[in-house]
Amino acid sequence: QGESGAEQGLIVSHFGVAVEVLFETGERRMVKVKRNSGHVVGDQVTVAGEVLNRLPRRTELSRRDARGGVHLLAANLDVLGVVLAPGTPSGFLDRAIVAARAAGLAPFVVFNKCDLPESAELSDATAGVYGGIVPFFPLSAVTGAGIEPLREFLRQGHRGAFVGTTGVGKSSLMNALCPELNLKVGELSDYNWTGRHTTTVSSLHALPGGGELVDTPGFRDFGLVDITVPELAAWFPGFEALQDHRCRFNDCRHRQEPGCAVRDELSTGGITQERYQTYLLLLGEVEALEEAAQRRN
Ligand code: GDP
Ligand code: ZN
Repeated sequence: QGESGAEQGLIVSHFGVAVEVLFETGERRMVKVKRNSGHVVGDQVTVAGEVLNRLPRRTELSRRDARGGVHLLAANLDVLGVVLAPGTPSGFLDRAIVAARAAGLAPFVVFNKCDLPESAELSDATAGVYGGIVPFFPLSAVTGAGIEPLREFLRQGHRGAFVGTTGVGKSSLMNALCPELNLKVGELSDYNWTGRHTTTVSSLHALPGGGELVDTPGFRDFGLVDITVPELAAWFPGFEALQDHRCRFNDCRHRQEPGCAVRDELSTGGITQERYQTYLLLLGEVEALEEAAQRRN
C-alpha cells in the first residue's frame, strides 16, 4: 500500500479488455483495460481504484508476425525455453536463441518426445552442438522422464515461457510441470493474432516447487524484432567466441569478407553449412529491417 493508496501487483492474466492483477497481499482482482493498452502478462503495476500504472520493465519479449506487425507477448521474463521435437524446422532453434538473447532472456532448450527413439537420437545430436552453449533438457512430457532437472532449473526463481512450433508439445509440457493447469493439448495452437479470436488469454502460473511460467498462444514461430547486424553476429549461437578477435575486420558480417573466422570454421566443419545458411537468412532479415528503418528516417 503506497501513500497514494495505490497497491502494487503483477498482471497474471490478460483477457483483452481486462487483466487479472495479483497483489502483494495475495488478493487477485480484475481490472478493466483498453484494448491495446500495452499491458501484458508479467507487467508490474500499481492500481488505484480503476487506474492502472505500469512500472518499468526488466525485459520485453515481442514477436514480428508474417505481415511485419510487432506484438508484445510478455514482460519481465528471465528465461526462454525453446521446445524442439522431430520435425522442428532447421533454423528454428538458432532463430529463437538469437531472439531470446536480443530480448535479454537466457535461452535454454527442451528436446521433447524422447520416449520416441528417433527423438532421443536427434536430441543427442542436437545436444552435441548446443549442450555447451545453453542448458539442455532432453525429456518426455508424456512419460515425465527427464522432467525433474527442468523443474529444478525453473525452481531457481526463474520466470520463463516456452516457444516452439505447433505440435512439439508445449501444452503437454506446461501440463506436466503445472498439473492444475489442465490445458487442452493442442489448445494453445488454436488461437491466432489476426483478431478473430477475441478470447485470447495469456496467463502466468506459479509452479508448485517455485518458478513461474507464462503461456500465451503467440509463442510459436516469430520474426526478429529490434536487432542490429553486430548483435546478430554476437548472439548467433556458436559465433560468440569467434566474434571479438578472430575475424580480420571487427565489424565482419561473416559473409564475403577476407580473413573471416566463421568461414574458416565452416571449411573445417566447426560450423555446419546448414547453420551458416540459417545465419545468412537471419542476416538478410536484419539488414532488410535496418534498411526499412533508414527509409523511415
Ligand atoms: P503444442 O502444439 O506445442 O502445444 O503441442 P501439444 O502439447 O498439443 O502436443 C502435440 C502432440 O504431441 C499431441 O498429440 C501430444 O500427445 C504429443 N506429445 C506431446 N508431448 C509428447 C511426448 O513427450 N511424447 C510423445 N510421444 N508425444 C507427445
Ligand atoms: Zn567474420
